[in-house]
Formats: sequence, structure tokens, C-alpha cells
Amino acid sequence: MGGSGAASVIVVGAGVFGLATGLALAEAGLKVRLVAETASGLTASGVAAGMLAPAFESVLDPPSPDSLGLLAAGRDLWPDLAGRLGVALDRSGAAAVGPDDWLGDLQARFAHLGLETREAGRAEMEAWTPGLAPRFRRALVTLEDWRIEPQEALAAMAARLRDLGGAVEAGALAARDLADPPGPVVLATGADRRLAALAPELALLSPIKGQILWRADQRPPSRVIRAPGAYLLGSGGGLLAGATMEAGRTDLRSDPQAQAGLRAALSDAFPEMPTGDWVTRVGVRAASPDGLPLAGASRRPGVFLAAGARRNGWLLAPLVAKIVTAAVTGEDGGRWAPRLDPSRFAPGAGEVLA
Ligand SMILES: Cc1cc2nc3c(=O)[nH]c(=O)nc-3n(C[C@H](O)[C@H](O)[C@H](O)COP(=O)(O)OP(=O)(O)OC[C@H]3O[C@@H](n4cnc5c(N)ncnc54)[C@H](O)[C@@H]3O)c2cc1C
Repeated sequence: MGGSGAASVIVVGAGVFGLATGLALAEAGLKVRLVAETASGLTASGVAAGMLAPAFESVLDPPSPDSLGLLAAGRDLWPDLAGRLGVALDRSGAAAVGPDDWLGDLQARFAHLGLETREAGRAEMEAWTPGLAPRFRRALVTLEDWRIEPQEALAAMAARLRDLGGAVEAGALAARDLADPPGPVVLATGADRRLAALAPELALLSPIKGQILWRADQRPPSRVIRAPGAYLLGSGGGLLAGATMEAGRTDLRSDPQAQAGLRAALSDAFPEMPTGDWVTRVGVRAASPDGLPLAGASRRPGVFLAAGARRNGWLLAPLVAKIVTAAVTGEDGGRWAPRLDPSRFAPGAGEVLA
């Protein structure tokens, strides 16, 4: 695998899309050179919460009305990937806590999608996480949603890629650096559109800044908790609360004003939680016009895309990696490949190639 005679491919980007795709290509026998400007831990992938949440994402913020099957297909590839990486996959599920009318609405939406939930009472809720607003009397639990620890998984992906003979290098690449590559090029460049001269589809992506809060001094909940306007989970030995969605912003600054809604939602659901001393982490997601990734061949021959994950990059990474690897090796990408085909927005998408 990946020996000196293997075909070589350049992957640009060390977020979860770049690493998962680079790894899948190496596992398919290609020699992978992965180049990234930002080290994986500092990418949007590195600051993400790591929820693999087809159920809650489908009822709270569906990228498209019928995306549950696609999101579930991404999740279902995780047990195998996590096993190959030797990282833990938390399958304890997620719970919604909140006012009765909000829970009732969620319950109806879960039922409409055929997703099973169970109710939990106050004693069970307090065992997961103390300090919940006393007026929250019940919770809705789904076991459909799982979680991965992002930093651990990124490090494991890079290590396995190297074990398979791949190279992981630091550096920023411009379109001219990739004008005459030795083989296929995969752009997994997140919200960065500098390489749109190489793949015009990248010009379709728009940025969404996300701020997420972390602190070490509070007991993390034993499963992911979703409340109106906020989620809470245990990560990196502390408590993670997320997240803002700031469309159009690309800066990585901590912005307390933009965090106000998130902080208010946290105070409402967890009134005993200290309000100060949160560490802010910032990432920028990339969204395509339909909220789903661009995965597969660019209109530019020899260039492939793995970008535009919006909120579900972790969830969809193994599926995107599989589809892009199939496109590079000339195999069938499977049922979801047409749905994520970068050419779905053509004609007129991005600038016209000479
Ligand atoms: C606060 C927050 C919470 C989130 N929570 C979740 C969650 O719980 N579950 C989930 O599924 N998703 C979540 N997401 C979304 C997820 O993080 C993203 O969809 C995903 O990380 C995108 O990964 P990526 O590999 O496409 O891009 P990125 O992680 O942004 O990586 C892009 C890479 O490309 C490199 N690059 C770009 N241009 C160049 C160039 N010209 N030369 C060299 N390198 C270049 C960068 O340096 C970087 O290494 C969250 C996002 C945020 C911001």
C-alpha cells in the first residue's frame, strides 16, 4: 500500500475532510501527500464539538428537508472508521431539555421522521447534568446521535495516514503551485476560497463563523444535552457549550457581543452555571448553496473537491471521503454521490473555465 510505485495524489487541507479523504485514498493504495496551512487542531474541525447527530440536526437545523438518510449514512460509517483509528465512539445518545412546548414540538418532528425517542424524568436528568433550570421537568432522549472527540480523531487520522506511507506537510498552496501536479489533486480547503482559480466550484462556498465556549471547572454532562439555543457536552476534560452561527464572517476573533444569545440560552437552561471565565474557540465553517458538501470531481479535470460541510463536517467526513476516493479511483461512489456532486449547481456556477 502506498509504495513507491503507487499513483500519487495531493490533498490540500488537514481538517476532517482532508484527513479522512487522505486516509481513504491511502487505504485504497494511493500515495498521499497532504499539505495544509493550518495544523489540524486549529482548524474548524479541531474546534468543533464532534457530534455525529443525524437526528438532532434533522429536527433542529436540517441542511435540506430530506437530509436524514444522508446524515445517517455518514454516521453509519463511523463505527468502522473509529475502529480502524482506535478512537472511542460515544454512542450514549443525546437528550433535549427545555420547556414543554419546545419539547412537544421536537417530539412531533422526531415522530414525523420516524425517529424513536424516549422520555426521561427529572431524577435522570439531574444524574446526567446537575443545575438544570427547575422548570424543566422532562427530557427527550435519542440514541441515534453519537459523538467523537475531534482532537483525538484528527491526531489518529494523521498518524494512520503516515503509517500507510502518506506525508503530512505544513504550507499554503496557491493555484500556481498546483498548475502541473503529478496526479490528482483533492481540495479539502474548508471555507478558504483562495484556490477557486483552480476549482471554480469553491467560489460557491460562503463562510459561517462559529464560536464555542469551554471551561475546565464544571462537571461535564454524561451525554450530549441540547437546550433551546445551546448544547452542552464533555470534551477535553472540561465542559463545551456551543455554538454561534455568524453567516458571512471569516475572522477568528472572540466576539462577546455575538456570543450574547448563546450565553443567554446557557443561563436560561443552566441558571447555576458561572457566566464568566469561558475560553472561546473559533472556527469558520463553509456552506454550499444547498447546505450539503461538494464531494467528487470538479469541472477542472484532475481536481476533486471535499469541502462545504457547514455544520456536519464530522458527521459526513467518512461518507465524503468514500465518495471522493471513488471519484479519484474511477469507481462508483454509491447512492449519495450524485447528491453531493460538485457539478449540481452548474451551469453558471462560479467562473467559467478557459
Ligand atoms: C463551533 C463549531 C462547532 C461544530 N460542531 C460540529 C459538530 O458537532 N459535528 C459536526 O459534524 N460538525 C461540526 N462543526 C462543523 C465542522 O467542524 C466543519 O464542517 C468541518 O470541520 C469542516 O472541515 P473541513 O476539513 O472541510 O475544513 P477545515 O477544518 O476548516 O480545514 C480546512 C483545511 O484547509 C487548509 N487550507 C485551506 N486553504 C489552503 C491552502 N490554499 N493551502 C494549504 N492549506 C489550505 C486549512 O489550513 C485547513 O487545514 C462545527 C463547526 C464549528 C465552527
